[in-house]
Amino acid sequence: MWQFETDPEFQVQLDWIDRFVREEVEPLDHLLGSQWDIRAPNFVRLVRPLQAKVRERGLWACHLGPELGGKGYGQVKLALMNELFGRSRFGPIVFGAQAPDTGNAEILAHYGTPGQKRRFLEPLLANEIVSCFAMTEPQGGADPTVFTTSAVQDGDAWVINGEKWFASNARFASFFILMAVTDPDAARYRRMSMFIVPADTPGIEIVRNHGFHGEPEATHAHMRWTNVRVPLENMLGSRGDAFVVAQTRLGGGRMHHAMRTVAQARRAFEMMCERALSRFTQGEQLARKQMVQEKIADSWIQLRQFRLLVLETAWLIDRHHDYKMVRKNIAAVKAVMPQVLHDIAARALQVHGSLGLSNEMPFSDWLVNSFHVGLADGPTEVHKVTVAREVLAEFKPAAGMFPSYIGYEQKARALDLYGEAMEG
Ligand SMILES: Cc1cc2nc3c(=O)[nH]c(=O)nc-3n(C[C@H](O)[C@H](O)[C@H](O)COP(=O)(O)OP(=O)(O)OC[C@H]3O[C@@H](n4cnc5c(N)ncnc54)[C@H](O)[C@@H]3O)c2cc1C
Repeated sequence: MWQFETDPEFQVQLDWIDRFVREEVEPLDHLLGSQWDIRAPNFVRLVRPLQAKVRERGLWACHLGPELGGKGYGQVKLALMNELFGRSRFGPIVFGAQAPDTGNAEILAHYGTPGQKRRFLEPLLANEIVSCFAMTEPQGGADPTVFTTSAVQDGDAWVINGEKWFASNARFASFFILMAVTDPDAARYRRMSMFIVPADTPGIEIVRNHGFHGEPEATHAHMRWTNVRVPLENMLGSRGDAFVVAQTRLGGGRMHHAMRTVAQARRAFEMMCERALSRFTQGEQLARKQMVQEKIADSWIQLRQFRLLVLETAWLIDRHHDYKMVRKNIAAVKAVMPQVLHDIAARALQVHGSLGLSNEMPFSDWLVNSFHVGLADGPTEVHKVTVAREVLAEFKPAAGMFPSYIGYEQKARALDLYGEAMEG
């Protein structure tokens, strides 16, 4: 059964989110620094009351199942929510659904001990603390098999040494989820394990924080880990299971980025339409110029196609409850999202002329952000390889020298089937 409708009760919630985000959350983007700086006085003054409104409305941390205090809405409803609150930088944290905490919470919910859940997961879900995912290393991110950060067992502790790169949000985090090599001689994808490490453990150092255009503060850390000791029980999942554990967070994380990308691309699109209808040149509206019309049509089509792919993928995840079964779709969503955001933000910028390039407008931030979503959680090229590999696994090579669908073979088969029944 196919249907493209939202149930009316949930639509009431969506309408509330839309209004709330536009009127009360979006203004924060113009006033506050990093959205992870939860101890900043203005965060406490301005963001906490908005989070309370979301809780009252029953919309807090909706990515979680009911056993963790969430609604258990599933990915389709989550997509519809994210494409509204994702238009604002502060939207996700106001709704208790910000990366990387959402993914880290999924890992802790799956693999944490009861004690770890009490100490780390519960305050994380309440946004009393924030967290960091430290996987990438300076020598390479797209290929995790080159990672060298090691964890060596010493009595009742793991001792961690190495460097991590672009660990977002490290300076605000209360704990890290860290990937380290425990079994250097094992098979390529069995060499690493995942750990939970409290941020106040001695030996953790931020070498430098890096930022990029459009970000209010530098928050992506180059880190050095020197003889960092954690108890044996801080391993999450089994020894050698880091890739399995990482997949628990990456599937959902990529989808949430995509849902928020729909929001940003839609915002750029809305701005482009308003400008096209408002600006006049050579005595007529920009909207009457065919090349501007083409920009609007191409953007609408691209956004619509992307949104449908995101929603279909969300629906598939809800059906299978297993990211692995939907790997091809998730990789496709991840691969196409940078292009969609890039193209629509670039067209919107162009239609606004010099104003579009100025820092009064968000288009250049979104252009840079299109590269962010094309790199974080793995570069586009790697995801395209996944799509192609999964697609090709559904096909077989031809049995002989020529294609199975070569014309004369097809005609012979058609004659076998219908030859006798045909006239003449
Ligand atoms: C904004 C942002 C936030 C991030 N946050 C985190 C974080 O919190 N924690 C964390 O661990 N990491 C984080 N990362 C790191 C991210 O996961 C890596 O940037 C990504 O995996 C790519 O690794 P790299 O930057 O080392 O690029 P490289 O591995 O050096 O790759 C560079 C380029 O090579 C090309 N390439 C690579 N592989 C292939 C291939 N198989 N085929 C064809 N071309 C290829 C691609 O063009 C790619 O962009 C973040 C990155 C960004 C941009």
